[in-house]
Amino acid sequence: MACVYLAQCAEYRTDLLDAAVAEAFEVLGLDEKIQPGMRVVIKPNLIMRSKSEAGIITHPAVTAAVGRRVKARGASVLIAESPGGPYSPGIMKSNFAHCGYTAMAQENGFELYTACASREVTAPKAQRCRQFTIVEPFLTADLIIDIAKLKTHGMMLFSGAVKNLFGTVPGLLKPELHCRFPEKQPFAEMLVDLCERIAPTISIIDGITAMEGNGPTGGSPRFVGVLGVSENPYALDDVCCRVVRIDPQDVLYLSHAVERGLYRPQEIETLGASVQSLYVPDFKMPDSASVDFLDRLPRFLRPMASKLTTPRPYIPKSKCVGCGKCAESCPVQTITIRNHKAQIDPSKCIRCFCCHEMCPQHIVEIRRFSLFNL
Ligand code: SF4
Ligand code: SF4
Repeated sequence: MACVYLAQCAEYRTDLLDAAVAEAFEVLGLDEKIQPGMRVVIKPNLIMRSKSEAGIITHPAVTAAVGRRVKARGASVLIAESPGGPYSPGIMKSNFAHCGYTAMAQENGFELYTACASREVTAPKAQRCRQFTIVEPFLTADLIIDIAKLKTHGMMLFSGAVKNLFGTVPGLLKPELHCRFPEKQPFAEMLVDLCERIAPTISIIDGITAMEGNGPTGGSPRFVGVLGVSENPYALDDVCCRVVRIDPQDVLYLSHAVERGLYRPQEIETLGASVQSLYVPDFKMPDSASVDFLDRLPRFLRPMASKLTTPRPYIPKSKCVGCGKCAESCPVQTITIRNHKAQIDPSKCIRCFCCHEMCPQHIVEIRRFSLFNL
């Protein structure tokens, strides 16, 4: 049976976070997993350079509280991450600094990984993807702690502990995986293969300030006030989905994990605060969320309606500054920069929404035709 601990947290205050992490680790028996001398690698979500208030990255105060607990057990802490876009020591140093991680790490005696080495490995239990290139510390750590951010996600609907591990693949190799698995279902299966290969010992979700709407980077910060902890990343994502009223079975990687017997939703035990006490009934979904009214149309109209309502990325030229980050992240190179403006060739677009995710100006919209506007 998988256990998930939910702590209600009103704010990112050091004393509250230390208490919540201590309680969760004690209740779930996680302290014993961390032994003196171990090298513990923490994987936060630092998808892009962002301030913690924006609800995009794992708040440095949460990572600090977890790292302090690890150090109190006599282990060392290394924080490693690979955001989207190019992955180099200079970029990582700048990202860590901008996200508030450099100061936090210095204050707490943690190390930041900036060497940016990676290597190819096989995933023996894989069902969809058997080869991955992984950032080195995730292959040599004595123990991995995955600290995700609770967010909506344009392609996967929800981003939590499982999706966060996509950041163990170095920067520009992520678009390659999007290219190999352009459809949602195989992509979701690949994420489960990756999660099984990384096998974090402890998974945590920072949902104190979450992101609703067009996540994982273009949505709005939303106070949810929850910190979730579990040994099982699928069970943790399942429970956090329920808090924000997302049906976990609509999240393809979770339904696939259930099929593979990696967790049983009906057997999850929730400890600490209840899901009901944390409910956010009106959490906004991404514009790309599936269109359920198609089922109500006559069968012969559904293919056309489905085509018309399929969400697509749209770049408003007047707001584009021509930085090229979207083109860099596009797995099928269907974005070109002309006269300092990005332009999408829709014929090749696989609708992965990496451009939406990686635009630092957050201007890439997700649009679909409305049947009612025809
Ligand atoms: S990342 Fe955003 S601002 Fe930069 S070129 Fe692309 S759409 Fe324009
Ligand atoms: S244009 Fe955007 S959504 Fe389309 S394939 Fe490129 S990155 Fe993905």
